[in-house]
Amino acid sequence: MFDLKKYRKKSPWILHYNAGSCNGCDIEILASLAPKYDLERFGVINTGNPKQSDIFLVTGPVTYRSRERLVELYTQMPEPKVVIAVGSCSCTGGVFRDMVNVEDGVDRYIPVDVYVAGCATSPELIIDGVVKALEILEQKTKEMEKPLKLFREATLENSIVNRRHTALKVGEKDEEN
Ligand code: SF4
Repeated sequence: MFDLKKYRKKSPWILHYNAGSCNGCDIEILASLAPKYDLERFGVINTGNPKQSDIFLVTGPVTYRSRERLVELYTQMPEPKVVIAVGSCSCTGGVFRDMVNVEDGVDRYIPVDVYVAGCATSPELIIDGVVKALEILEQKTKEMEKPLKLFREATLENSIVNRRHTALKVGEKDEEN
């Protein structure tokens, strides 16, 4: 049977969101996708749909107005997913940190897997970050695909089968035994 998950690493779709940047890092993302740097050679496609995206590229500090949309987009992306904070503002708030209406770096609101520094950052660093994100995406995919097993025998309580069986992923700790 054709297993789509197997090919996720070879055709990751990205979602790009500007949470409040000056556009400097956004231009670098576009440059990394353009023919000179050609991030598409890794199978990457920039999509505008969070429901079809594997990698979330976020630029800029999180602002008071963008924070809800940031979390909403992240929530709409299917698992497994990887978040890349692109540029110093996205990593820490950068030059906008502590300014009015600026909240913080992206990891204050959603978990970040890869931090790409620089103001502005560069296509080379973004490509490095995406390659790192692909490794993390593969690890997360494997983690999700670990087989489930029932680890307790069925037991009888007052002649009734105790159905408190819990499915654990292989390697997870059995709290009761
Ligand atoms: S890191 Fe620099 S270039 Fe990038 S969004 Fe912030 S101020 Fe702009």
